[in-house]
Amino acid sequence: MLIKFLSNTTISRIAAGEVIERPASVIKELVENSIDAGSDNIDITIENAGKNLIIIADNGCGMSPQDLEIAVQRHTTSKLDESDLLNIHTFGFRGEALPSIGSISRMTITSKAAGSDKAYQIQVIGGEVQGSKPAVHNDGTTIEIRDLFFATPARLKFLRSDKTELAACVEVVKKIALSHPGVSFTLQHNGKNIFKVRKQDGARENQLKGRIVEILGEDFINNAALIDLNNSDLIVKGYTSIPTLNKATKDEQFLFINNRPVKDSLLYVSLRVAYQDYLARDRHPYSVIFLEISPHFVDVNVHPAKSEVRFHDPNMVRNFIIHAIKNALSENSQKVSSTIGATALGFFNSNNSNRTFNSLQQAAPSHNNYGNYKNFAENAYVSNFSFLKQNKEPIFQDNIFSNKIAPSTKIEEEIILSSNENINFRLGAAKAQFHSTYIISQTNDSIIIIDQHAAHERLGYEKIKENIKRNSLIKQRLLIPEIIELSTDHKAELLYIKSAELSEMGLTIEKFGEKSIIVSETPSLLGDINVKDLILDLADYISEIGEDIKLTELIEHVTETYACHYSVRAGRVLNTHEMNELLRQMEQTSFSGQCNHGRPTYIELKLKDIEKLFGRI
Ligand code: ADP
Ligand code: MG
Repeated sequence: MLIKFLSNTTISRIAAGEVIERPASVIKELVENSIDAGSDNIDITIENAGKNLIIIADNGCGMSPQDLEIAVQRHTTSKLDESDLLNIHTFGFRGEALPSIGSISRMTITSKAAGSDKAYQIQVIGGEVQGSKPAVHNDGTTIEIRDLFFATPARLKFLRSDKTELAACVEVVKKIALSHPGVSFTLQHNGKNIFKVRKQDGARENQLKGRIVEILGEDFINNAALIDLNNSDLIVKGYTSIPTLNKATKDEQFLFINNRPVKDSLLYVSLRVAYQDYLARDRHPYSVIFLEISPHFVDVNVHPAKSEVRFHDPNMVRNFIIHAIKNALSENSQKVSSTIGATALGFFNSNNSNRTFNSLQQAAPSHNNYGNYKNFAENAYVSNFSFLKQNKEPIFQDNIFSNKIAPSTKIEEEIILSSNENINFRLGAAKAQFHSTYIISQTNDSIIIIDQHAAHERLGYEKIKENIKRNSLIKQRLLIPEIIELSTDHKAELLYIKSAELSEMGLTIEKFGEKSIIVSETPSLLGDINVKDLILDLADYISEIGEDIKLTELIEHVTETYACHYSVRAGRVLNTHEMNELLRQMEQTSFSGQCNHGRPTYIELKLKDIEKLFGRI
């Protein structure tokens, strides 16, 4: 056996395999270097999604010719204090990016150090360094990468279509731009400007807000709750959409740890828990969250690309983030997304449905409103839960209306000119009920359409929550206990481990073999439900978080699952008193502006918008 030392080029190419996966990784490394160099303007130019050409030009501190020669060597950095490897405040510190990129492409760096009167250029071609020579350049650095992976053709084969690679490039720039509002960025692809944000001035908060508007759009900020919570170890700041502004994918969720964009399930899991009361499982909020934590409590050096992190106490961090999001949401619990009113107005404008849709798009150019639109238009009460699809109605035993109200009288589709006594309430005075489903009310400056079914569902949910909290859920013994087989042993085991807590919440279960459980009692509030679907949903939900789920989380999961399996009779005819009673209850119930799936329970049409529709103003 012959053992050899690997050449520097081979070592660099192996390292490049870890750091540089695709054109977007080059952009990430180089833009981070530009930011570390103190730039406030970064221009990125790419061709063929970065496969042929990437140019990053900055106005940072620049490099002297000596620096240039050292920077392209392996393990050279100006950023690390070797006495404290944990105390990292820059993006870079491993000294790997430039030599790695240089070993697999044709790289040219041109730079002028601030204060120097001459610029220099150095080239690295497939790992071969060509000495520096004088050049022309303003203060700052331009790095040009041609033919990425030409020296490692195997890697080239793994690249995806231009469309996919370009999307990854944009994503990287977007994330870095979000966390660096004091820097201007442009991105040009094949000669076209595809991304541009301008340096934001002012205090960090304002800068950030301005940048978020540039990237996620005005609608997001107008429909977002401000997150701001700190303790002695952690600070969480940012914005998260109120539940009625949501989308089908989770691609508008950004987490930054110490201002570094990270890929971590931490944010996703935290959002799922924080929103579980308010959003269907297939809908996702928009969120931009900045977590600040002492570098001593988090290790960013888990992965060469540094996009993953490791916390010393991940549970503590997660719980804190959940708490911060929930606080923010409850402070905005009576708000309903303003995009919904706009969407609704679009429907009224129905002479030309295409035009309507376009006008909606114009109203929200920078983020896709289609999710809401489509959701509202098509999915109005279609739930994901198989139980509801079977259309089995549970017995609605616990009437959410107070007893003082007489049984309803037949007033359907009759316009009632009721008094304006209630007009000063937030949801106004109920005027009429249409199609046994919608209530119309009037406030001083608007007309409100309330979806009675969704509103009932929400109030019912709060009722379940109250009952669980007060420990006053009454159990109902099943005539024949039901044996339910779970998809895995683990899920059966999890339910079994939690059986004492579940029993407190009205659900009596016992283990039955490896994969099954027996259910003998359910909460009577839920009526005649499909027990199997309820248990399967519950098991899925609990197993998503895992065995160490906290009791409060468990309670929330159970409440949420119950609520999904609990329905009220739609199409109940109401009299004016009942309608007003429902509106007053909604006003007193937090989060009554949306049903449990994040759909709105009411839509408000401002008079001034209605006047616009009629061309009055
Ligand atoms: P790291 O960023 O981990 O230090 P790199 O290989 O990315 O390692 O860069 C090596 C060094 O080159 C940096 O430490 C920095 O001193 C210098 N450098 C890289 N890019 C720039 C730039 N755009 N402007 C000024 N200096 C730079
Ligand atoms: Mg670097």
